Amino acid sequence: MLVVQKYGGTSVGDLERIESVAKRVSKAKEAGNDIVVVVSAMSGETNKLVGYAEHFSQTPSAREMDILLSSGERVTSALLAIALTEMGHPAMAMTGRQAGIYTDEVHTKARINSIDNRAMKEALDKGKIVILAGFQGITESGSVTTLGRGGSDLSAVAVAGALDADLCEIYTDVDGIYTTDPRIEPKAKKIEKISYDEMLEFASLGAKVLQNRSVELAKKLNVNLVTRSSFNDNEGTLITKEENIMEQPIVSGIAVDKNQARITLRGVSDKPGIAAEIFKTLAQNNINVDMIIQNVGEDSSTNLGFTVPENELERAKEIMLQLNASENLEFDRDIAKVSIVGVGMKSHSGVASRAFETLAAENINIEMISTSEIKISMVVAEKYSELAVRALHSAYEMDQ
Ligand code: ADP
Ligand code: ASP
Ligand code: MG
Repeated sequence: MLVVQKYGGTSVGDLERIESVAKRVSKAKEAGNDIVVVVSAMSGETNKLVGYAEHFSQTPSAREMDILLSSGERVTSALLAIALTEMGHPAMAMTGRQAGIYTDEVHTKARINSIDNRAMKEALDKGKIVILAGFQGITESGSVTTLGRGGSDLSAVAVAGALDADLCEIYTDVDGIYTTDPRIEPKAKKIEKISYDEMLEFASLGAKVLQNRSVELAKKLNVNLVTRSSFNDNEGTLITKEENIMEQPIVSGIAVDKNQARITLRGVSDKPGIAAEIFKTLAQNNINVDMIIQNVGEDSSTNLGFTVPENELERAKEIMLQLNASENLEFDRDIAKVSIVGVGMKSHSGVASRAFETLAAENINIEMISTSEIKISMVVAEKYSELAVRALHSAYEMDQ
């Protein structure tokens, strides 16, 4: 079998952890498999590097950020390769460039365009274990890029696809996908199997256990994806096609995203073209706008509110200030988005009203709402978001 194993930040958080990962990889190799390992930076390392850059600038150049941030993964890939080789399993560390991971030019959130798998194949053919520095690639013109936060998951799935691997295992600090973040609700239950679509919603709505684009790609390439813990041998969660899952609950889980900020524009004159201009400019600058509400204020002018990822707020702010007078703008970092996810919602009514009642009973004000076939998202004050998660988790009887 060809197995891709990805180890996240906590799994390679210090030298002891890297040693224990090396042992796990050795075991899989000794069982007769070909192994490609994808590693993250040591936990906290990427944030530390972001902090260093912010010491000098609130809006550092994205190109320079990529050179900076990609370094964390290089460290762990080299260390793990050294440790494995020392254990008698020759291993070869590779950067994104060396492994042939080609991306577009969108620095700090590049997309993978293609993978030239020859270098990895050659190393595997020689019996070596390939240790890929995750989260990074290279543009056609030779610039280093990174794939967005949590992007080592994407590296792993993309490589599993490019090498036609039999299995892609994502090792982390929880032993699978739970009905909600077990750090917020200890009563959360492990899910045995979850569909790509639900997992994609879950990940896009803040369950950072898997990066959303990695799930999207796994679905597209039909990669057998399993999340499990590097701290024990428990069975993990299989992410698979919907038809492979027998029983679908109405609500599968609750996600929360605290990395959200809101921009409100007051007193917009009520005429065509205003929203188009704002959202076009934001899109041109690669800012992801999520929930949008517009309501009529007094004197036929309107208020426009929308959310952006908190780490894009500074750039969004600059753009909005260029387009609008500052006295009409408001920025709010202290919000969070709480979401209920479940494919079973497609065929059930009353799911949303129960959510609204539950939050009302806790005196939590819902500031924005958006829905799709399989999710309901609500913006609430960040300080109440964990309470909201626990209340909803219990209201939909997920702790039973
Ligand atoms: P890694 O460093 O291995 O990439 P992450 O920190 O990115 O790990 O993701 C693992 C974390 O995701 C867990 O520690 C957990 O707190 C969080 N998490 C959020 N939602 C969920 C969920 N529904 N199921 C499991 N873990 C979740
Ligand atoms: N180290 C990067 C991050 O913290 C990528 C990853 O861990 O997947 O976002
Ligand atoms: Mg992660």
